[in-house]
Amino acid sequence: MISLQDEYFCIYGIVDYHAMTVSFDPKEMEKSIYDCAVDYMAAGIDPERSVLMVQSTVSEHTELAWVLNTVTPISWLLRVPTFKEKRQQNPDYVNMGLLDYPVLMAADIVIYKAEVVPVGDDQLPHLELTREIVRRFNSYFGPVFPEPKAKLGEVTRILGLDGINKMSKSLDNCIYLDETKEEIWKKLSTAVTDVRRKRKTDPGDPEDCNIFTMHKGFSKQEDADYCARECCAAGIGCLDCKKILLDNMYKELEPIQKKQLELRGNRQHVLDVLRQGQERAKDIAVTTMDEVYSKLGIKLYH
Ligand code: SF4
Repeated sequence: MISLQDEYFCIYGIVDYHAMTVSFDPKEMEKSIYDCAVDYMAAGIDPERSVLMVQSTVSEHTELAWVLNTVTPISWLLRVPTFKEKRQQNPDYVNMGLLDYPVLMAADIVIYKAEVVPVGDDQLPHLELTREIVRRFNSYFGPVFPEPKAKLGEVTRILGLDGINKMSKSLDNCIYLDETKEEIWKKLSTAVTDVRRKRKTDPGDPEDCNIFTMHKGFSKQEDADYCARECCAAGIGCLDCKKILLDNMYKELEPIQKKQLELRGNRQHVLDVLRQGQERAKDIAVTTMDEVYSKLGIKLYH
């Protein structure tokens, strides 16, 4: 996400409307949005080059989502894997927003006529759905939106510490950007590895181990190669392997944490960045909606 700024004009959204599709505490919302902005900026999103905005502050996202709803068959939404998962996890809270989540996501993307979207492989079905919705809209009303393409990183998915689910606050299986080295070690040391490796003397398969996936994301090539080789030969134990990962991971996180502290001490700057992001995003979104209204035959009244 960060390095894309060197190649593209990027827009980053903090998707608060999406966050409302599961039960949430409104008292926490303001802080969550602020923390998210701080994390993005600390990780390297540069507001001089890119736009960082809060989804709900650009009302055109939901206006377009409504329009896209009218061309999206319900059957397409019912087959989305994340909807099925969420429905199973939370059978008492299956709300309309949850079902409609991918349509709002499609609106988030196409309101800016984005051509490229950085995704993990679990998001590919959502992006494919966006492309189908775009094709439908364009064929019904005339060409407005480009079909966005997925941009997969080298590591397409890092699972949570349980090695099964995505990192998630509610599942308590994630590492936070602002955790100390000791806190991270506490979590990493008990994280699931190749489950077939019961003892240090059993050879493992790094390609079947979430810790090794993290090595690919964080470690120097030589460290990752060493761990892979020694894992296959039962030359090192999982704790040794995790210690190497911890050092590499923390090297990456330490400068981010310093920046987080700086930014948290400069609240007004963060709010200014979001306000400026809102204005820049809104300019583009309004222009797109004008085009949409023309195609729908309601431009005269806007
Ligand atoms: Fe995973 Fe490393 Fe253990 Fe191999 S040695 S199973 S790569 S943690």
